[in-house]
Amino acid sequence: MTKPAFHNASGRYDAVLCDIDGCLLDEAGGPLNLDQLAAVAQHNARAKADRDRPLVTVCTGRPLPFAECMCRAIANDVLPCVCENGAWVYDPSVNGYHLDPAITDEHLDAATRFRRWCLARYAADGVSSQPGKNASVSLYHPDPGFLDSIKPALADACADHGWPFRVSGTWNYINCDLTHISKATGIAQFLKRTGLDPQRLAGVGDTKGDIAIAQTVDWFGVPANRDPAIDVHATHISKLDQIDAVVEMLGLL
Ligand SMILES: [Mg+2]
Repeated sequence: MTKPAFHNASGRYDAVLCDIDGCLLDEAGGPLNLDQLAAVAQHNARAKADRDRPLVTVCTGRPLPFAECMCRAIANDVLPCVCENGAWVYDPSVNGYHLDPAITDEHLDAATRFRRWCLARYAADGVSSQPGKNASVSLYHPDPGFLDSIKPALADACADHGWPFRVSGTWNYINCDLTHISKATGIAQFLKRTGLDPQRLAGVGDTKGDIAIAQTVDWFGVPANRDPAIDVHATHISKLDQIDAVVEMLGLL
């Protein structure tokens, strides 16, 4: 067995896999809550110094560079994080960029072709593609209703062209991820790299994509702003929103 990358010597959990959008920040934009991010960073500093609490890392659909920056913001330079809905694991301890080995050049080419198709068809309607994604396609439009309306056409295009993508979404984005890749496979890569025991992991998430976190970890918390569809997976439902909830929940672990 690999020696765990981080061990909490006096508590129940070694790590917290925390979603970013809707949990550490507002998916819709706006300034970062730097005071509360500093509280998470202080929690992590204590975790590293005293080994008396779990270390927080991120598990996100965001592109790798954004996840790297969030790891820096919360002072996680020890544990890998899961990015791009599982396509990548980034390890800040060695600046390691690890694409899931199940993703081939053909998959990356399919992502490029699918992205071009989406923009050729919908850019004039105001749809944009989130930059920085390699193995997936994330589409943004200010009107979530419009995004919902084009999901069936995206799924049909994938079927017609043989592009192996699953069409799903968060509050403000359509996420098109490779059908064999998800936060669950990303967490499997995280576990392989860290040697951590899933029974000693906690997690935080707010949308259906985070059910993969819930199904892996022993303790799963959700903020008040979560999609109620994931309540059935929650160990704890906070009355607070977003990062206020995360900070509250860290106090419980
Ligand atoms: Mg989220």
